[in-house]
Amino acid sequence: MQIPIPATEDVLWSPTPEGFRSGFVALIGRPNVGKSTLLNQLVGEKVAITSPVAQTTRNRLRAILTTATAQLVLLDTPGIHKPHHLLGERLVQTARNSIGEVDVVLALMDGSVPLGRGDQFVLDLLKQIRQPVLLGLNKQDLVNPEEQQELFNSYQDALPEAPLLPFSATTGDGCSALVEALEPLLPLGTMLYPAGTISDQPEKLLLAELIREQVLHLTREEIPHSVAVQIERLEEDGPRTAILATVMVERSSQKGILIGKGGAMLKAIGTGARLQMQKVFDGPIYLELFVKVVPHWRQKPGRLAELGYQGE
Ligand code: GDP
Ligand code: MG
Repeated sequence: MQIPIPATEDVLWSPTPEGFRSGFVALIGRPNVGKSTLLNQLVGEKVAITSPVAQTTRNRLRAILTTATAQLVLLDTPGIHKPHHLLGERLVQTARNSIGEVDVVLALMDGSVPLGRGDQFVLDLLKQIRQPVLLGLNKQDLVNPEEQQELFNSYQDALPEAPLLPFSATTGDGCSALVEALEPLLPLGTMLYPAGTISDQPEKLLLAELIREQVLHLTREEIPHSVAVQIERLEEDGPRTAILATVMVERSSQKGILIGKGGAMLKAIGTGARLQMQKVFDGPIYLELFVKVVPHWRQKPGRLAELGYQGE
């Protein structure tokens, strides 16, 4: 009798290399320091949305980076800041909860500007935790060499015991050094996710985030914090994927802004989102968008839970 040969690679078992490490890394920092950008840079693909508008990451996202010697599960957290309303409180809570369950904390700062009061709030929070902390100074591409040392000193003085790692999430400079510094701080262990995995975000949530990202990019002030996106339908339709989504806002004036003159704004949002989706999902996308007014959705705990912003 012939011994059957496994048909696919995934049935072939490979042992964990000796000395392999795996664990959780929380990215902590005030809004806009580049947490989401770093995450995308590290996993090499877009898994988190980024925006010039602060506070765009609402849900906790896990991105997974597997190297030859370790697997890092990176938690992108909403930026820590002082809360102003219910949604704000939930965001801070999610960030705080992330710290409790991880092996290492990567405190991210915008290293192109001197340490500010917002950073101090983050650093004070970090002084209370038991895990090792690395201090990541992002946006080094914006720093001119004469100012660099002085900037480094201001951060190092604020948290003397933490190793300082300058990098640029946009260009990727310094990012492999960052990973090399993180790896030895993880416990020995096997892979937590299959080697090719880059995110644990449910597909629908990622799609909704890509639409929200376009809203943030194309509109300003009034819109960002009062918008939520829900994917109503997601279907394979021949070679293409058909998506039906509702964009929720709080006021009818915002609905007007989102739709724009003759529907121009909504069209631009749809086109932008579709292009991003095609990159991520690797195939043609048909996207239909509706705008709906849901007064005060941010103040309603039930509504927040429905949209995935869970209090924990
Ligand atoms: P988060 O709120 O911490 O997740 O920040 P984002 O990743 O959304 O980034 C906020 C803004 O900073 C975006 O406009 C990014 O393009 C920008 N940014 C992030 N990293 C860098 C960097 O290394 N260099 C420069 N020049 N801009 C960056
Ligand atoms: Mg973010």
